[in-house]
Amino acid sequence: MANITVLDQNTINKIAAGEVIERPASVVKELLENAIDAQATAVTVEIKDGGISLVRVTDNGSGIPKEQIPLAFLRHATSKIKTVEDLFTISSLGFRGEALASIASVSQVELITKTGDSLTGSRYQIEGGIKKDLEEIGAPEGTTLIVRNLFYNTPARRKFLKTPMTEGAHVSAVVEKIALSHPDISIRFIMNNQNKLYTSGNHNQKDLIYTVFGREIASNLLSVNMEIDAIRLSGFIGKPVIARANRNYENYFINGRYIRSNIISKAIEEAYKPFMMQHKYPFTMLHLNIAPGTLDVNVHPTKMELRFQTESRFTVRC
Ligand code: ADP
Ligand code: MG
Repeated sequence: MANITVLDQNTINKIAAGEVIERPASVVKELLENAIDAQATAVTVEIKDGGISLVRVTDNGSGIPKEQIPLAFLRHATSKIKTVEDLFTISSLGFRGEALASIASVSQVELITKTGDSLTGSRYQIEGGIKKDLEEIGAPEGTTLIVRNLFYNTPARRKFLKTPMTEGAHVSAVVEKIALSHPDISIRFIMNNQNKLYTSGNHNQKDLIYTVFGREIASNLLSVNMEIDAIRLSGFIGKPVIARANRNYENYFINGRYIRSNIISKAIEEAYKPFMMQHKYPFTMLHLNIAPGTLDVNVHPTKMELRFQTESRFTVRC
């Protein structure tokens, strides 16, 4: 992506800084979002040991121009916004400009990238935030980011990681959610050399649900498609026969982003109440499209929770 600039101090202060990288799943989330922001149509995520020893994300997106590579690893360096006003119109996934800087400061990172208009690619290595090497190499168009030995230099944080199996499950959940929110992108997930998920990127929501959740779920769906004022709602909801004992199957996305929101959960459960046994929760895969100006997507550093400008109005309309 072109024109990476460093945000001014004022803007930096307005963006509440937070811990971005907690575990391998946060690394995968940030790298996948970067790939998507770079207009990739195919992304492969590979992890080993739950992502603790290795995370590799390969995309066929725009690549990073050689002279901008070191800049991409500076804190608050982003090509996605320039001033705080842009925050209110942002439609890209990342914009805090701190993911690569945070990741590189707590791991050993190798970046291989090539833009469409460059003849050769670049390979950049940075460990614990310190640049090791930048060289020209042959590479396909797009970007590969390899993150090795997460928290190798911060043992206290490494201690908080769970077993590779648990960390791998977190990564898996993140990949699934991102795959579900992007039917137009083919996403492959490989864990310990085994293929775990491979979505086609053929735009078909139902195929995607089948790939991720299997046949029973995919054959018990009702489609939803409506528009009220500036809100468009589309996707699928499950029949009560596929209800679950927990909320894990309540999926909803705002402007393409997977989020959690008590308001939306409550609205969904309220609507299902007459059809549902107690303590059962529905399967939903709902996409809400709302004008970006009415949302504050910068509330939480990991951007899982959004704030609505007019929460009460939203509840009523839902
Ligand atoms: P942010 O995504 O918030 O801008 P990051 O630290 O995640 O910040 O990335 C910094 C910059 O590096 C991005 O703005 C983008 O220009 C570039 N970049 C990162 N990953 C990729 C990628 N996979 N393809 C192209 N450009 C990328
Ligand atoms: Mg990012």
